[in-house]
Amino acid sequence: MSLSDISARIRAAEHSADRPDQSVKLIAVSKVQPLDRVIHVLDQGHRSFGENRVQEAAAKWPELQQRYADTDLHLLGPLQSNKAKQAMALFQTIHSLDRPKLARKLADLAQDLGACPTLFIQVNTGDEAQKAGLPVTEIDQFVAMCRQMDLPVIGLMCIPPVEEEPSLHFALLAKLAARNGLQNLSMGMSSDFETAVSLGATHIRVGSAIFGPRTPV
Ligand SMILES: *Cc1c(COP(=O)(O)O)cnc(C)c1O
Repeated sequence: MSLSDISARIRAAEHSADRPDQSVKLIAVSKVQPLDRVIHVLDQGHRSFGENRVQEAAAKWPELQQRYADTDLHLLGPLQSNKAKQAMALFQTIHSLDRPKLARKLADLAQDLGACPTLFIQVNTGDEAQKAGLPVTEIDQFVAMCRQMDLPVIGLMCIPPVEEEPSLHFALLAKLAARNGLQNLSMGMSSDFETAVSLGATHIRVGSAIFGPRTPV
């Protein structure tokens, strides 16, 4: 698959869901990919990228952002509080806000810096012990808390359990967002982004379908 194939599939999914053209933002997930593949996608004009780890992003993106203007970086993986400051300087959007302690840390730093990346709250829709994200039952209260802290929360994010039908999780995420007045949904990856678009995804996170497999072949 190439970037243009994926873009065509997104436009087709928007169309069949009666959604406006370009209403879905494609985040190209470049974690662990060889630099030449990332540069190839940048050279095609794509500018939104996702990374899972602060350290890895800090090692590769500042230089790329100098070469390619207007690059838009998204943090998708769990964020430790002690890396929050570095993450706020590197990323335009954080998709993994998942606990009160991190919310307080981001709010404090936002006060000092006078700026804050836009934020998605990660929801553990499958209630999986090993996965990050807040339980579904805590979302309403957590959204209210973030609003009190003036954090720029724009939506919800989920990673459905691998063994389950993703559409149930996407529909649940959409319901939770609507009930909390949140406009954006970060959901859908290489294997299920068309389903996510049909259920209202505004941000899809696609890695291997664009760049190829992450493990060396
Ligand atoms: C790795 C990752 C992706 C991309 O996964 P693919 O299956 O390669 O598309 C999307 N979201 C998150 C949170 C990830 O960690």
